[in-house]
Amino acid sequence: MTSKDVTEADLQSNIPLAGRHPGQADTIVNVGGVAFGGPKFVVIAGPCTIENHDMMMDTGDAVNAAGAAMMRGGAFKPLTFPYRSDKMFQLGEEGLQYLAEARERTGLPVVTEILDVRDVQMLARYTDMMQVGARNMQNFPLLEELGKAGVPVLLKRHFGCGLRDWLGAAEYILYHGNPNVVLCERGITAPHTHQLTSRFIVDIEAVLAAKEWSHLPVIVDPSHATFKRAYVGPVSRAALAIGADGIILDVHPVPEQAAVDPLQALSFPAFDNLMGELRAIGGAMGREV
Ligand code: PEP
Ligand code: MN
Repeated sequence: MTSKDVTEADLQSNIPLAGRHPGQADTIVNVGGVAFGGPKFVVIAGPCTIENHDMMMDTGDAVNAAGAAMMRGGAFKPLTFPYRSDKMFQLGEEGLQYLAEARERTGLPVVTEILDVRDVQMLARYTDMMQVGARNMQNFPLLEELGKAGVPVLLKRHFGCGLRDWLGAAEYILYHGNPNVVLCERGITAPHTHQLTSRFIVDIEAVLAAKEWSHLPVIVDPSHATFKRAYVGPVSRAALAIGADGIILDVHPVPEQAAVDPLQALSFPAFDNLMGELRAIGGAMGREV
């Protein structure tokens, strides 16, 4: 056994498709012309939640101008508590229309979260990639439908799951016929971290472990992993430095007033500044950002 978690036997019996066999090259996943898993470090940016038409257009224009390769925007939000309000809401299909309009306007492909297996066909009309949130990582009927749908999938790691479970979830999508899966580390829960109140901690080594055991591209979500604006830039730089294939970031016109996750979103100037830093690091590593 070479690992506490995934084993050589798993490669044969449990993850023959998602696992990396000896000598197997990295898989490139193409999303609307953007290649994950190649030389380019793919930056996805946009609002956690699409709040209205204008904020989606403004955010799309800003992240496009700063050099993002793709946009994100949530229209279906998995909120911890069931109480929605004028602060905590989701726009549903109306939000997807704004996301698709921002895609037309900028030419950037988009990713959005799929919460419900019944919405797969509807979402497929609006988005280039479907995000499976951390909480749905082991929603097996959803993974099966996404396998059959064939739309590229961004598979978040559940905050309580190890690599073996994560790759098992990817296997479901591949097994049901969809080879276009990108893995995303988004922070895990740990009993002791640097501060009592931190909800998640970035498992940066998971990028290495996932790449060791799988051929699939691996990105990091520094926004949801840190939950803390001041940490987002440094963890983004660390993701590039450690060899991740990209990052996904929350960016908002007025971060402090974001409807969901106001503590972590970056402002437009902060995102632009970070893109400059990433290009400098990428340049030193022979990677395009
Ligand atoms: C998100 O990206 O909007 C999100 C809810 O992330 P996670 O599933 O990682 O919590
Ligand atoms: Mn969020």
